[in-house]
Amino acid sequence: MIFPDAMLGMLGGGQLGRMFTLAAHSMGYRVTVLDPDPLSPAGAIADVHLKAAYQDREALQQLADTCAAVTTEFENVPAESLRWLASHCTVRPAGDAVAVAQDRIREKAFVKSCGIAVAPYAVVESEADVAKTGSALFPAILKRARFGYDGKGQARVANADEARKAFVELGSESCVLEQRIALKCELSAVVARGADGIGRAFPVAENRHRNGILDVCIVPARVTPELAQRAEQWALTIAEKLNYCGVLAVEFFVSEAGELLVNEMAPRPHNSGHYTMDACATSQFEQQVRTLCGLPLGAPKLLSPVVMVNLLGEAWQHGQPLWERVFNVPEAKLHLYGKHEARAGRKMGHYTVLGESADTALQKAVIVRSALYPDWND
Ligand code: ATP
Ligand code: MG
Repeated sequence: MIFPDAMLGMLGGGQLGRMFTLAAHSMGYRVTVLDPDPLSPAGAIADVHLKAAYQDREALQQLADTCAAVTTEFENVPAESLRWLASHCTVRPAGDAVAVAQDRIREKAFVKSCGIAVAPYAVVESEADVAKTGSALFPAILKRARFGYDGKGQARVANADEARKAFVELGSESCVLEQRIALKCELSAVVARGADGIGRAFPVAENRHRNGILDVCIVPARVTPELAQRAEQWALTIAEKLNYCGVLAVEFFVSEAGELLVNEMAPRPHNSGHYTMDACATSQFEQQVRTLCGLPLGAPKLLSPVVMVNLLGEAWQHGQPLWERVFNVPEAKLHLYGKHEARAGRKMGHYTVLGESADTALQKAVIVRSALYPDWND
């Protein structure tokens, strides 16, 4: 086990790295962040901020020399850098597991190989591949296999002709063409799995998106216990079959017919798991510290129903948001990520609202939300 006050390494300096750093600090660890951005949210609070590229051999060497263990906060970190580090120090999760989640083609094939359902899809690596898919997949979504996030690198397509055009517009790179599912709702399960192979799941969240970006997250999810349990179990199975060590998030679709399908996974804490910081006995970031340090997992127990709302750059459209509307709700907690520039679609922060039930928390949360996003009328 790695104990305080060891130095821990974090590849990536975004908000996930920042919340990891906060958790690590409160447990008495020190953190070195590698991120080229001098204004990175995690770099701003880390003990050491290495401002270099993720492949920079000197910076990686410094991480290896000074850190007891290294982890990552975003899936597009070069798996190669993780593999290089692994030959010098403890790296969790392993580069091989991250590589699966970095590529939708590998990811879907892997999930299927676990006997777990995904939406019908076809691999598209050329314009000719589109013609081979047949009409059953339409209407569909064409998604680039790599480097997509927050709905970027995706196109909604109604037929093969549109899919061919979209394939070219997305850069003629490997894609998956996925049947568009009529959604009853979306869920996610965040799990932690230790080096000893013991896994624990946080309660399943019900996720609402706006423009392909997570907007509101409701916990416990308002689905049957059987469905929630299946989602947790599938996420734990995926972690086990990947021989995963760390925090892993799995996103799900629930179809109108009530069918559970895996959408995708992320080899790290997840936006839909931010509620754990205010509503669970252990947060997803503490769990990340624990798995990285080889400590036993903390209890993921939910202490109160909760709703989380993302604060995107749009909330700054007319200047500073009306913060008093958040602070006036005693059950609300504000989290800002220290980003200096508010751009539309950029995740600037979030708030949570605790409640007697998910529905009462949701009622309060949406009143605050409409004050913070005066231009959104949904
Ligand atoms: P993020 O990184 O924010 O999770 P992403 O860019 O990886 O996003 P996806 O999770 O694939 O993108 O899709 C974003 C959202 O778009 C989904 O959460 C869902 O609301 C919608 N969506 C994606 N694929 C489908 C589908 N096959 N059927 C219906 N809706 C879909
Ligand atoms: Mg997603």
